Amino acid sequence: MAHEFLLKNVRPLEGDTVDVLVVDAIIEKIGKDITPPGSKGTVLEGGHRILIPGFVDAHAHLDKTLWGLPWHRNQAGPLLIDKIENERRVRREMKLSSEKQAVHQIRQSIRMGTTHIRTHVDVDTEIGLKNLEGVLTAREKFRDYMTIQIVAFPQSGMLVRPGTVELLEEAIKAGADLIGGIDPSTIDRDPVRHLKTIFEIAGRHGIGVDIHIHEPGALGAFSIELVAERTKALGLQGKVNISHAFCLGMIDDAYLNQLIDLLLENKISIMTHAPMHRPLFPPIKRLREAGVVLCSGSDNIRDTWAPYGNADMLERAMFLSWRSAFHRDEDLEMALDITTFGGARAMGTKNYGLEVGCRADFVLLQGETRADAIVSRAPRKCVIKNGQVVATDGECLI
Ligand SMILES: [Zn+2]
Repeated sequence: MAHEFLLKNVRPLEGDTVDVLVVDAIIEKIGKDITPPGSKGTVLEGGHRILIPGFVDAHAHLDKTLWGLPWHRNQAGPLLIDKIENERRVRREMKLSSEKQAVHQIRQSIRMGTTHIRTHVDVDTEIGLKNLEGVLTAREKFRDYMTIQIVAFPQSGMLVRPGTVELLEEAIKAGADLIGGIDPSTIDRDPVRHLKTIFEIAGRHGIGVDIHIHEPGALGAFSIELVAERTKALGLQGKVNISHAFCLGMIDDAYLNQLIDLLLENKISIMTHAPMHRPLFPPIKRLREAGVVLCSGSDNIRDTWAPYGNADMLERAMFLSWRSAFHRDEDLEMALDITTFGGARAMGTKNYGLEVGCRADFVLLQGETRADAIVSRAPRKCVIKNGQVVATDGECLI
């Protein structure tokens, strides 16, 4: 028998108050005064709160977090390589379980109203597939409560560590959904070969690509040109995301326009989390107005890299707004859109949203308006995943 769930008196995206009827985890009807389901169904009073689709954390590292453990005193050096080596040492000494750590973060994300996560998972010649196996087990445990995409990520470089390419292939066969990459010039020092290798893996397995590009200015911009070229050559339009892309905030207008054209032509999305450690980052409003798909994510959460983060994508919407100096409500609403619809588009999520036929993945926000909710960041009143309540008043029920 079909399971019916009626959400009474909610305001979708702060619009007029309506009821939402969910049948077998799909939105069946939206309207005024919908009759409550029979005795087997569930009715939840929304109290005229704002209803939005579940948050999408489109860039996480579930295998890195130290969430749920005693406070870690961070003593990592300033360089990227210092942080990579420090992480390797600390994880070895602490004998961490990536499964347990992923579970801690997933539960935290549920509390905060996230229903979809894309996580990068380290694959290298020392870790092998151990982190991936832990995150795959955590994903399976939470399959009804969180949608998780996994990117096989060569954090320590690929070409500079022989054997990594083969491990990445194995990671895809073992269940990773996408292939990752990182700074093809500065880490692997051979951008053409780096990108050729990861795009060939993507082409062979018919999967998408999500690449970290931290490289600055013209160097990063050149990497983006090469990513666009590979995307076109392999027909992967709509399946490629570039994470960070700080360079988009560092080049002149004419060059930025050229790159925007390439991103649009090849349907490449951009992930920015409004970084604390970079004075320049992608110009959110400019890219959105041009039609580029933008998404956001938590990135590192309380790990050996940095102590910050709490998996709250509502707070991330504030960071996007804060760092972009947004003050108009419509701009804050755009930031919220990036952390919801933008993420869903970047992840290729089907049936996402608040229309009839969409999957019932919702958050009930506290606040008068969306902008108010972003700046107030009150505990989430209710989080619903696959038509079932998974968190109330900021507490995870799973
Ligand atoms: Zn990352």
